[in-house]
Amino acid sequence: MLEVKDLHVTVEGSEILKGLSLTINEGEVHALMGPNGAGKSTLSAVIAGKDGYEVTQGSITFKGQDVLEMEIEERAQAGLLLGFQYPVEIPGVKNIYLLKAALNAQRAARGEDELPAPEFMKLVKEKLGLMKMDASFLQRAVNEGFSGGEKKRNEILQMLVLQPKLAMLDEIDSGLDIDAMKVVADGVNSLRAEDRAILLVTHYQRLLDYIVPDKVHVLVDGRIVKTGDAELAKELEANGYEGIEESVA
Ligand code: ADP
Ligand code: MG
Ligand code: MG
Repeated sequence: MLEVKDLHVTVEGSEILKGLSLTINEGEVHALMGPNGAGKSTLSAVIAGKDGYEVTQGSITFKGQDVLEMEIEERAQAGLLLGFQYPVEIPGVKNIYLLKAALNAQRAARGEDELPAPEFMKLVKEKLGLMKMDASFLQRAVNEGFSGGEKKRNEILQMLVLQPKLAMLDEIDSGLDIDAMKVVADGVNSLRAEDRAILLVTHYQRLLDYIVPDKVHVLVDGRIVKTGDAELAKELEANGYEGIEESVA
């Protein structure tokens, strides 16, 4: 589904990704771990098409399409969706309106009609229930005054409504207490599907007790230095990243 080959990315003149390769197949959940500043957020931002990143070498293909040739909107419409590490507050825009506008934009791009209001409400209420969110969240401005945990739930709610093909979640577990983390993990698990892949960027192994990844990659200094299964995350928890950096060196 996603193939990243020998990716080199420069930000503000310094090289952050230094030859990163990664393949994600349909149906898989991959965890990307690594020390602060390794380039994890940079990778997901480049895939999603955020501004400010210069690809100097390498390629990214998604379902055979050259991602680097696609505009940010085209990537979203193709089903590449990045959740925000720090979800933005949008005063004056109701949560329900944002969900509806995003879903209908996606449908329009596929040549589909708007989802009729009753069906839309049914869909949203089902997903709200999964995220254990109250219907009042729909009428509030996007993320305004939401607690950290509520913002993360809202982010997963967006994913559940938009049903991306590749969902990229950056530090979805940061700042969550254990109960909120379980709700978020349940939401992510309910996104799992044969025709969908999930890329989870996370610092801590704890989240991976609830969302068991098919593959775990360790990103150090702009390159993936080790790939394994869920066991690798446990090793990292026990030994830290230093052990890996040394063994690689
Ligand atoms: P991670 O998510 O693994 O913690 P990031 O991808 O956020 O790491 O950052 C990797 C490196 O790139 C860091 O050294 C960071 O300071 C630098 N970086 C990221 N974005 C920018 C930017 N917009 N301007 C300058 N440096 C940046
Ligand atoms: Mg990063
Ligand atoms: Mg980051």
